[in-house]
Amino acid sequence: MSLSEKSYRGRIAPSPTGYLHLGHARTFWVAQERARAQRGTLILRNEDIDSTRYRMEFVEAMLEDLKWFGFAWQEGPDVGGPYTPYDQSRRREHYLAALDKLIAGNFVYPCVCSRKDIQTAAHAPHAEDDDEVIYPGTCRENRKSEIVNRKFSWRFRVPDGETISFMDGNLGPQSFIAGKDFGDFVVWRPDDVPAYQLACVADDAAMQITEVVRGADLLKSTARQLLLYRALNLPAPQFFHCPLLCDDSGVRLAKRHAALALRTLREAGKTPESLRATWNSLPPA
Ligand code: GLU
Repeated sequence: MSLSEKSYRGRIAPSPTGYLHLGHARTFWVAQERARAQRGTLILRNEDIDSTRYRMEFVEAMLEDLKWFGFAWQEGPDVGGPYTPYDQSRRREHYLAALDKLIAGNFVYPCVCSRKDIQTAAHAPHAEDDDEVIYPGTCRENRKSEIVNRKFSWRFRVPDGETISFMDGNLGPQSFIAGKDFGDFVVWRPDDVPAYQLACVADDAAMQITEVVRGADLLKSTARQLLLYRALNLPAPQFFHCPLLCDDSGVRLAKRHAALALRTLREAGKTPESLRATWNSLPPA
């Protein structure tokens, strides 16, 4: 049975690195509406993988804010479900298994470059709209045995020049060129933490997600993730990218927009219904 023949399984996957704001709520609302329209299942996944950035207080706030806003999920860290655990910090063995597959298939290589090395490397073109500098490939020929006593990351070798295309459920046909729009990307960090791209693919596949609804700022991540699905021999879900919300001065909403945090709005007496009404008056990114 292909993914599209299965019943709809969508997810919302916040990272507890700050308070959720109206922009998150809008993307998540679309995810919830799409799951409801298909009489599907909505999963809440707590993306607390980055222990250097997440805080427990934000996990609690996240659950509270989502419930207040009117979100209801059928599987998640607080309600359980068939693919437990739903906290990324408790799913390490899944990510290690995926990494082992990538190593065995020679899709990744150990990279000792520091962030600074990469930023200052000559001919490292900046990808527009995606803040990751294209990796110049310095460590591509490294073998693990050569990396003695050094911290390293595992980097995915992208097929240079290949066009990665997909049909977005909202934005229509999309294509990105590997090596030009994005370069070799980290799947496992030097501090022994799985990178977002790998954790996300491993989880969306394990949790049988049929459609990923996310912000349009992640379009290139979707292209990277499609390469991971292929390398891991896993069926990819459908994708539906939502335009991002901007504030009055045209700046994208981010966790630092404290005034638009759901809890600040709630304390100011706003209701979820009135907030949903404002989505139509804010310009999309
Ligand atoms: N935790 C990620 C974020 O909040 C999830 C992105 C995604 O939908 O894959 O940006």
